[in-house]
Amino acid sequence: MSEVINASQTNTLENPVLNPMSVYDHEQVVFCQDKATGLKAIIAVHDTTLGPALGGTRMWNYVNELEALTDVLRLSRGMTYKAAISGLNLGGGKAVIIGDSKTDKSEALFRRFGKFVDSLGGKYITAEDVGINPRDMQYVNMETDFVTGLPGKSGDPSPVTAYGVFVGMKAAAKERWGSDSLEGKKVAVQGVGHVGEHLVKYLTEAGAKVYINDINQEQLKKVAQEYGAEVVEGDALYDLDIDIYAPCALGATVNDETISRLKCSIIAGAANNQLKDETVHGKILLEKGILYAPDFVINAGGLINVNSEIVGYDQKESFAMTENIYNTTLNIFKISKEKNIPTYQAANQLAEERIAAIGKINQKW
Ligand code: NAD
Repeated sequence: MSEVINASQTNTLENPVLNPMSVYDHEQVVFCQDKATGLKAIIAVHDTTLGPALGGTRMWNYVNELEALTDVLRLSRGMTYKAAISGLNLGGGKAVIIGDSKTDKSEALFRRFGKFVDSLGGKYITAEDVGINPRDMQYVNMETDFVTGLPGKSGDPSPVTAYGVFVGMKAAAKERWGSDSLEGKKVAVQGVGHVGEHLVKYLTEAGAKVYINDINQEQLKKVAQEYGAEVVEGDALYDLDIDIYAPCALGATVNDETISRLKCSIIAGAANNQLKDETVHGKILLEKGILYAPDFVINAGGLINVNSEIVGYDQKESFAMTENIYNTTLNIFKISKEKNIPTYQAANQLAEERIAAIGKINQKW
């Protein structure tokens, strides 16, 4: 993940698929087409060294097939790293269905997709992602058992995700200020949806001074009233005098424009891909002395929770496993300091080391 994968740069007319796949060594990419249901989907299996490739299915109106391929390759690789650093016996995979989630859905389309997932024999396990709802996944589940995160099973992952972000933030506080107490710390939470709201709860209980921001005014008001958090309108959030910035809405909010405005000491939040360009912005944060708790490390609670469905834990156990994000995050900071490398790079190295080590064990009887 040290570079942003860009299939369009590696894709040529002569090598439209295998070339981009080879950049980050994807194992298998499956193209699924069915005229009768209108299904057009791509399933990417990045790496199964640690176990079956798990990752959600996203339905999105991609501009073209290349954009869909780029997205599925990038996302599936991200899942490999997230699972590896979280100590899970899972590989990384992802699927994208090309289409408009508001108009192109049907029972037949999802059941046909389920048959494609099933044809991989468990090498790829799917779940919900952007544009997909529980009902869609129930249709997929009618054709394959390789589905997780269904209603009535491991349940809403958001509380566990928020807890992981909270302990990751505490680890960052420990590293920065010598104590992991968040009492009196000024924390700005951007996005108070499923994860953000739970995070606000944990922060309030810990005695932090919480600022919140969301484009959904109703939700913003509700969370402000419930937890006594202070509302900050629009992008004024980037100019606040705060200790911690917690992006819990969108990716890429740490970019050329915001990085010069941010006055925080720590960035720790739930959003995926917070750094617009890892190599560029990870380095700038290191130079500016802003401690970045890598997103895919501290937001892994949701994956840990969904994994519980496969291995038969309950949510209590998932919370206990998620607690370990604290130690992992501290370890990443240690490596980053020792090697003077950005924290995201230290996290990537740790994940790659685990994959290599367990891969070797698996070669032996
Ligand atoms: P959500 O959709 O419930 O909440 C996101 C919130 O952000 C919404 O309230 C939305 O109105 C707000 N928002 C959108 N654009 C905004 C903007 N420009 N400025 C301010 N607020 C804005 O999503 P969620 O499940 O809470 O996930 C939050 C983030 O964490 C996402 O990036 C998601 O990919 C990531 N994540 C979630 C989980 C999980 O378990 N839900 C796990 C890992 C990562």
